[in-house]
Amino acid sequence: MTFEEIRNDEQQYMMHTYGRFQTALVSGKGAVAKDVDGKEYIDFTSGIGVNCLGYCDEGWVKAVSEQAGRIQHISNLYYSPLQTEVSKKLCELTGFDKVFLCNSGAEANECAIKIARKYSFDKYGQGRQKIVTLVNSFHGRTVTTLAATGQDVFHNFFFPFTEGFAYAEANNIDSVKKCIDNEVCAVFIELVQGEGGVMPLDKEFVAEIEKICSEKDILLMVDEVQTGMSRTGAVYCYQNYGIKPDVITSAKGLGGGVPIGACLCSEKLAEVMTAGTHGTTFGGNPIACAAAKEVLSRVTTPEFLAEVRAKGEYIREKLQTMPNVKEVRGMGMMIGIVTEKDNAKEIAGKCVANGLLILTAKTLLRLLPPLNITYEEIDRGLNILKTVMED
Ligand SMILES: *Cc1c(COP(=O)(O)O)cnc(C)c1O
Repeated sequence: MTFEEIRNDEQQYMMHTYGRFQTALVSGKGAVAKDVDGKEYIDFTSGIGVNCLGYCDEGWVKAVSEQAGRIQHISNLYYSPLQTEVSKKLCELTGFDKVFLCNSGAEANECAIKIARKYSFDKYGQGRQKIVTLVNSFHGRTVTTLAATGQDVFHNFFFPFTEGFAYAEANNIDSVKKCIDNEVCAVFIELVQGEGGVMPLDKEFVAEIEKICSEKDILLMVDEVQTGMSRTGAVYCYQNYGIKPDVITSAKGLGGGVPIGACLCSEKLAEVMTAGTHGTTFGGNPIACAAAKEVLSRVTTPEFLAEVRAKGEYIREKLQTMPNVKEVRGMGMMIGIVTEKDNAKEIAGKCVANGLLILTAKTLLRLLPPLNITYEEIDRGLNILKTVMED
């Protein structure tokens, strides 16, 4: 098939839910993707933070393909050694007590929201159901996670949205305090807002929230769907903040390219979700778990994390000297670039035409390179970006 044919069929047979870049990707190796015409692209996206080991990493391919040949799916009516291995590893890496496995970020967040409401219901009865999230957050596309998302553009068309969310301003503790009344059961935040424009929260702001939450028995829940899996230089970003949330959610990079999500809770919440209160057909699928097991064993070592931090620094330093760069922000290998000309969308399109895959977030350029990208690949990508930025 030619690119034209693919694009025409997409127009004809698929719902038009995505604005797509003008390329059709068909294969890849490491941080290099190839399109249907054989053209190569340096990948600074990981497919939006998913392919944390790049394309078709040898160990990852082996884990997934061997598992596909062993047993591809079992229902959650049976025990699964892969589910227990992944859950155990997640708990050991974080100190959380229990894991629920699902298939996406939105689903992991649905689980977190249900835990918060049921914990409060079990302990205090009805009427304590409100969850405070932040303006410019992003928590997913289901009706409830859209409601949790603190951006007005997402609160349209699909009425009625799930009730019980209040939105506070990021890095403004008074705004959080204003939202907190005796109906609040949880505060749910991203530590570096991803879709909202690669915006890290201040440490003091987060510490204040943790303090308020623990005083009032309000759960502190962190959406680590984008920031997790070593993206910010710690296995989970909360570890960079020195806090101990009650719940975190994970997805995107967790399976290195296959769908898997997880919701982790602390010991005090261990028994909140009882038999029959939650479930999913595909959650903890053996192939997804085999992938996650491989990813978890690879990206969480101290040496790997040090590499992520070093590469993030290296990229940031180089960006600082590039034309059209007004501000570079983010953490580890989650990097946002404010452009002088406020032309991120245009730059991203031109990068693709020049052989570099790059993301945007709001009005910023956003980089989420594979965590194991080589310095040589980084340089190749940055050179393309520089050429486009000079234009
Ligand atoms: C991507 C993302 C989600 C949604 O994940 P899906 O897998 O698309 O459902 C939720 N929260 C954050 C912070 C994200 O970046």
